[in-house]
Amino acid sequence: MSPTVGRTWIVLATRNPGKIAELRRILTEVPSLDVDLVGLEEFPQVGDIAETAATFAANALLKAHAVADATGLPVVADDSGLCVDALAGMPGVLSARWAGRHGDDVANLQLVLGQLADVPAERRGARFVCAAAVALPTGAERVVEGELVGVLTTTPRGTNGFGYDPIFVPVGEGRTTAEMAPAEKDAISHRGRAFRDVAAFLPEFLTRPPLGHR
Ligand code: IMP
Repeated sequence: MSPTVGRTWIVLATRNPGKIAELRRILTEVPSLDVDLVGLEEFPQVGDIAETAATFAANALLKAHAVADATGLPVVADDSGLCVDALAGMPGVLSARWAGRHGDDVANLQLVLGQLADVPAERRGARFVCAAAVALPTGAERVVEGELVGVLTTTPRGTNGFGYDPIFVPVGEGRTTAEMAPAEKDAISHRGRAFRDVAAFLPEFLTRPPLGHR
């Protein structure tokens, strides 16, 4: 998309078109927010930022600040993953590379299923977590988290979504998130919740004076 000259640009620190589309849908629901959302594809000079921190919030903040420094623009960044009760909260920040290779969704999911092979239904609780951080070039920052609580199945079901969706059933649902329509998942998802929170505080946040000028 081409951003409009004269409008505030906000960068979403990702090259994932699905995430950009989702945040764009959510931001357009806030009438007081007159911004153009652009992804990292508009900034080829910004390289990949390693997610080296120990928490979702710290990873989201480090990405948001790195991209705000590189672009001079307000940035929204997110980090998310699956936290499994029977694995003491793992894979957590290692969700994308749990089986050893970054982004191998099938291997990651199969490894979690194998690790839970002897875990009975009542101990198969898990949650998706998403931290969404906003950073301004002035150094101002804010981070929020959204969560979706559920249980893990014993076999994958459904073809929508990505990652661990085929084995995750939200509380109160019979279907996995891979069996839900994308809009249904957005309405309850960890990312949807975190992004809607961001959309709510963003108009005021963008008008903040630089640090030290309050
Ligand atoms: P990232 O935040 O895009 O780096 O995602 C981290 C990893 O967490 C993904 O590669 C998936 O394995 C997992 N994950 C995060 N959100 C979801 C989701 O909504 N469904 C399924 N897997 C997810």
